[in-house]
Amino acid sequence: MEIAVFGTGYVGLVTGVCFAEMGYNVTCFDIDGDKITALSEGNCPIYEPGLEEMLKRNLAEGRLYFTNESTNACRKADYIFIAVGTPENEDGSANLGYLDAAVASIGKSLDRDGVIVIKSTVPVGTNERVRKQLEAIIPSELRVSVVSNPEFLREGSGILDTFHADRIVIGADDHEAGRAVAKLYEPFGRPVIQTDVRSAELIKYASNAFLATKISFINEIANLCEHTGANIEDVAKGMGMDHRIGSQFLNAGIGYGGSCFPKDTKALEKLTEYYDYDFKILRSVIEVNSRQKQQLFHKAKELFGSLQGKRVAVLGIAFKPHTDDIREAPAVELITSLLGEQADISVYDPAASGKVSDLFGSKLYYAENADTAIKGADAVFIMTEWPQITEYDLGRYPLLMRQPIIFDGRNCYGLEEAETAGLTYFSIGRKAVN
Ligand code: NAD
Repeated sequence: MEIAVFGTGYVGLVTGVCFAEMGYNVTCFDIDGDKITALSEGNCPIYEPGLEEMLKRNLAEGRLYFTNESTNACRKADYIFIAVGTPENEDGSANLGYLDAAVASIGKSLDRDGVIVIKSTVPVGTNERVRKQLEAIIPSELRVSVVSNPEFLREGSGILDTFHADRIVIGADDHEAGRAVAKLYEPFGRPVIQTDVRSAELIKYASNAFLATKISFINEIANLCEHTGANIEDVAKGMGMDHRIGSQFLNAGIGYGGSCFPKDTKALEKLTEYYDYDFKILRSVIEVNSRQKQQLFHKAKELFGSLQGKRVAVLGIAFKPHTDDIREAPAVELITSLLGEQADISVYDPAASGKVSDLFGSKLYYAENADTAIKGADAVFIMTEWPQITEYDLGRYPLLMRQPIIFDGRNCYGLEEAETAGLTYFSIGRKAVN
């Protein structure tokens, strides 16, 4: 079985490598020539645990190929997966420009019947539009089916999530093509749900919007804890023990970020506007999140007044641990606000420093470790719960900082240990220690 994958980002690369691991022959195409060169040599351009080893093994065993010629990828392919980015347009809608370009090059390359599988997150109706777009380009004797197969992997555990997916969603109006794609996934042994195309497209947005809702909800409860004197950790634990609620996604913090929740909630909101439907909860989820991202900055402003010239350290930039992805990361927004105050900023992230430096250049000092970042600082902001930060020896804050003032956006430390270490400690939804 021959598979082509268009787009070698977090989703496309993990998909391609995992299909190769399952024994399929996979050819990945990307418009980014440098990425293709690196990948062909076994170098993984993204940080994803276990990915590089699997990439190297499948390259060596001759099941995985990379090309910068779309025709090479399509030539023998029985299935063509599209996993290109669908970022946010300025108005919040999904930018389908990369998808359209991928579809155009597939259309030009197809010389036999094809099954096109869209993995990218796309608004309801897009798969149908893509089918029509392809039918208009390809020779009339060819038959093309478009199958929706949205992706649910999480960055940082992409490989694990692919092999242990809770469900594989396959949406097809051409049932034969849907069944064929389901068969492709059989070796993974995971539950498959087959639906019509529009339902599959909506399952993806509804799932992300629901998870975002859980986060914004618990953050609202955390803010209420700060007003009432309750403790969010206890409240969330007590809620989560109810199986109808579940304990996951009940960690209060400084808001969701990343390449998916922010853009997907906004794209869903745009879709509701198109259908003239007022999705009130969704609007609030988005609004609460953008307010939450400013929480620590406001706390710091309240404490210091002006932050001009203050030495501040930001620990953790990636939107979550075990990834180098900084797209829509709350830390990026915080750094922008701190720069606006003319603070003197050092940053430390175990994986994302390169990407942060691409964004902020010489405006920041990039530390090799937490010790160097916090040395001489007036305040520390904890933005990502990397183990290097959660397991950091609290005794080092008073030792190395000018004054041990910590703003913890991820509730990494217990209040008692913060007190014992002599910290002035502000977290989310818990009383301040000072
Ligand atoms: P990404 O930005 O990491 O990668 C996209 C890749 O597509 C890039 O390498 C880019 O060069 C390539 N590309 C752009 N145009 C192309 C074209 N015409 N032909 C071939 N390649 C092209 O994106 P990602 O994070 O992998 O996300 C891809 C899709 O999957 C998005 O729709 C996203 O919403 C969805 N998704 C992402 C995640 C995640 O955790 N990142 C999870 C689930 C779903």
